[in-house]
Amino acid sequence: MAKKYVYKFGGGKADGTGEMKNLLGGKGANLAEMCNLAIPVPPGFTLTTEVCTAYYDSGRKYPSELEGQVKQALAFVEKLMGRKFGDPKRPLLVSVRSGARQSMPGMMETVLNVGLTDSTLQGMIDETGDPRFVYDSYRRLIMMYSDVVMEKAAGIEPAEGQGIRGQLEHLMEARKHARGVTLDTDLTAEDLKILSEQFKAKVKELLGKPFPDNAMEQLWGGIGAVFSSWMGKRAVEYRRIEKLPAHWGTAVNVQAMVFGNMGDDCATGVAFTRNPATGENAFYGEFLTNAQGEDVVAGIRTPAPINDSSKNEANKVNRTLEEVMPEPYRQLNQIRLKLEAHYKDMQDIEFTIERDKLWMLQTRNGKRTGNAAVRMAVEMAESRMIDRKTAVMRVKPEQLLELLLPMLDPKVEAATLPAAKGLPAGPGGAVGEIVFTADDAASRAKAGHKVLLVRAETSPEDVHGMHASEGILTSKGGMTSHAALVARGWGKCCIVGCSALQIDMRNRTLTIGGKVYREGDVFSLNGTQGKVYDHALPMVFPDLEHNECYMKIMAWGDTFRKIGIRTNADTPEDANRARKFGAQGIGLFRIEHMFYGEGSDHSLFLLRKMIMSKSVEERTEALNELFPFMKADIKRTLAVMDGLPVTIRLLDPPLHEFVPRAQERLEELAASLHIDMNDLHKRAESLHENNPMMGHRGVRLGVTYPEITETQIRAILEAAAELIKENKKALPEIMVPVTCTSKELDCQKVIVDKVHKEVCEKFGLKKVPYLYGTMIEIPRAALTSDKMAETAEFFSFGTNDLTQMSFGFSRDDIGGFLSDYLEQKLLPEDPFATIDNEAVAELIKISIERGRKTRPNLKVGICGEHGGDPASVRFCHSAGLNYVSCSPFRVPIARFAAAQAAIIDEQKAAAAAPAKAVKKAAKKASPKKAAPKKAAAKKAAPKAAPKKAAPKKVAKKAAPKAAAKTVKKAAKKAARRAGR
Ligand code: ADP
Ligand code: MG
Ligand code: MG
Repeated sequence: MAKKYVYKFGGGKADGTGEMKNLLGGKGANLAEMCNLAIPVPPGFTLTTEVCTAYYDSGRKYPSELEGQVKQALAFVEKLMGRKFGDPKRPLLVSVRSGARQSMPGMMETVLNVGLTDSTLQGMIDETGDPRFVYDSYRRLIMMYSDVVMEKAAGIEPAEGQGIRGQLEHLMEARKHARGVTLDTDLTAEDLKILSEQFKAKVKELLGKPFPDNAMEQLWGGIGAVFSSWMGKRAVEYRRIEKLPAHWGTAVNVQAMVFGNMGDDCATGVAFTRNPATGENAFYGEFLTNAQGEDVVAGIRTPAPINDSSKNEANKVNRTLEEVMPEPYRQLNQIRLKLEAHYKDMQDIEFTIERDKLWMLQTRNGKRTGNAAVRMAVEMAESRMIDRKTAVMRVKPEQLLELLLPMLDPKVEAATLPAAKGLPAGPGGAVGEIVFTADDAASRAKAGHKVLLVRAETSPEDVHGMHASEGILTSKGGMTSHAALVARGWGKCCIVGCSALQIDMRNRTLTIGGKVYREGDVFSLNGTQGKVYDHALPMVFPDLEHNECYMKIMAWGDTFRKIGIRTNADTPEDANRARKFGAQGIGLFRIEHMFYGEGSDHSLFLLRKMIMSKSVEERTEALNELFPFMKADIKRTLAVMDGLPVTIRLLDPPLHEFVPRAQERLEELAASLHIDMNDLHKRAESLHENNPMMGHRGVRLGVTYPEITETQIRAILEAAAELIKENKKALPEIMVPVTCTSKELDCQKVIVDKVHKEVCEKFGLKKVPYLYGTMIEIPRAALTSDKMAETAEFFSFGTNDLTQMSFGFSRDDIGGFLSDYLEQKLLPEDPFATIDNEAVAELIKISIERGRKTRPNLKVGICGEHGGDPASVRFCHSAGLNYVSCSPFRVPIARFAAAQAAIIDEQKAAAAAPAKAVKKAAKKASPKKAAPKKAAAKKAAPKAAPKKAAPKKVAKKAAPKAAAKTVKKAAKKAARRAGR
């Protein structure tokens, strides 16, 4: 049998289902699903994504079976509608709609009213007796078709503002002006008829071809345009940002038209089953009467709220759909509940009402802010719509950042009058210089400026500039406009429909209430409330502990998580913040940090003195002076962590980094060392290295100058001893950096043992608890981990340097060539952002395996930027690390990514081998054995037990026969889940 390229839907059933997104695209699959749910959907058919891939694989040709299958499907629609496509008496009109697997808002093209020609036009007028409606549909068809099919898909790239669509809009504006009206809906049938003629003339003039007067030609033109738009500039750019593969292809949906523009008992709208900005469980949407398709999204007229809970500053004067059309609204609300119950997630829906009859045109999982994602997940779990695992999987780790990131200081805000108010479309605060084009936004941001993109409205052409901006501000558009949709998807601060703005593109100025602002002026946005300020406001951190839903979902995540989360922190403030975020220890405390930043002048001076010392005596004297500062600094952070492990890395950077450059400082130093400037310069010069990154640094300093190690160890152990004496807790982990041979570790351990003994004697303690370990950041160290682990009690992978040394890429210089590597696809992504899973990951795995062979309870973690990257966290989870460590702000993200990694693992295991699901279910049936494992997992960080092996064995033994039924059920469930 010939391959099936076309799937029909309509009349209460469909060839496809909602599961078939890869083949039918998201829109097509969900249209089929809604049909199967007996929701009113205009009939139609879907050309599969395989048509798209076949089309591109064969040099833009369709498979030969396609035409016949389309004809057949069209006949099916004609029959259901009692109309014929291209028929002058009872013509069928269709829409041609794109639909990829994943929604790409506004990226691809849709053409409505396809099939209107001179002859069908007359037929429809005769039939409806409503020439205004027919000409309105016709002029829309010409506008969309000429833009999408005849210009964009034909590869014509007009200059900004010179496109056919803009030209036709000018004609329409001129007509309105001449008639003294402002709204599209005020134009009469006669106006629209004249406009249609003008439009066709303009199309011919500008594009050199007549607008096609043949229904079939229009249909295939529309289909071809959707397929071409998949490789269009906008779609390609969007896929690049969202990291979607090109080989997915798009589907095309051809669907019978229903009309929202037949009069005041007609409408079209967009809605969300819950509020996408706050997550509140309230139906939320906008609509326009006597309108079609994109009118709501394009912000041509200010849309009205569908109900009271959708009212805002801009639309509250309008009557709601609930008031204007109570019966269709009631049906819509029922469908809302039905869809949510069915999809078990918030839906973003599109509908049209034709003469009081409601039609559904689309449903999909709705984009939402981070706050909304958390709230919806928690509330859906609490109402038992979904389980807690699903709830945790619903929030992208990166989305949490939105809840943590600074917002405009509410105290300052309360005392400041906004310059203007708009609709709160994207959350959080943003401060930056205003710019008026997407290109300017992108280039200024590239030059290191923080920018706010200000536009009348955004279009898909603006995405790169929107992405580069801190925030987006538009004068037009509603909560479902392009800007709002895209910003919400990215979690970006955004205010739309701020009608007080007058933007003058020619002079690049913005006027608000008579006051003129120029490009580069600084504004502040409160995207959560829609307030615009014409100057910079300070930013502060939100109060997380009182965000109940956040606290809940994080706690749920922790019950699934298997690995520990620590933070990189050098100060008590950072340590405190990270603990509030849930850090279970410090994975990296850098001693050298005490020489940077505020209040470090004196200790930095002493360090410099130590560096410039020539003899052991000189150096020891300087070190002795430095000692109390070092001890106090370490003690403060140990105290904050209150017995949680703190990994303290010994002095790491090359010494010349600390040589002062200012004359005054140099003189001071010379005086203190009792040498002249000449001598000092000589000493400084001798510290110069050609390749300091691989020079005299890290453990190498301790090898050459054991007294430097000794002072640091003493500071660490005395700090801990003092805390113990004060009846407090302290658990330092001494970490030796830049090691490449186990001998280095042995050599430094001698010093550690000696100092430990001395400190114990001094404080009258039997021991000061500590661990001794190393950073694994040189491939040689990774490969000799069996030996390293003889002395080291823990490893911490310094993945920044490990990446640098594995690739031979200097991380300070990679900026010069990384973009070329990414563009030419020589690398899948920046290896400093996500752990390279070919080599660096392999080195880590080898190192862990060899290390644990020597020392089974070897504690292993990572520090470095990768610790906060969700993909890298997933790797760390599966590689059996005990913990990851990351900067304080990434702690919640890492916690959550680790929880999701555990859940994904479990689901994968269940899917791969139903037998394993059987074991798991069996484990559930024997709660006594399972319990201790859970407890251990909760404590996470300090335990080194290799978790995977043990519990499985237990489960096998314990599986009681009586549990067989539950077991089967669980296996079935798991298999079903795997199929999705
Ligand atoms: P997008 O992917 O940009 O949302 P759609 O294919 O959903 O594009 O089309 C946009 C809008 O066009 C829809 O929301 C709907 O209002 C209108 N539309 C599409 N198909 C039809 C149809 N068959 N009848 C009436 N309106 C339609
Ligand atoms: Mg579209
Ligand atoms: Mg749509």
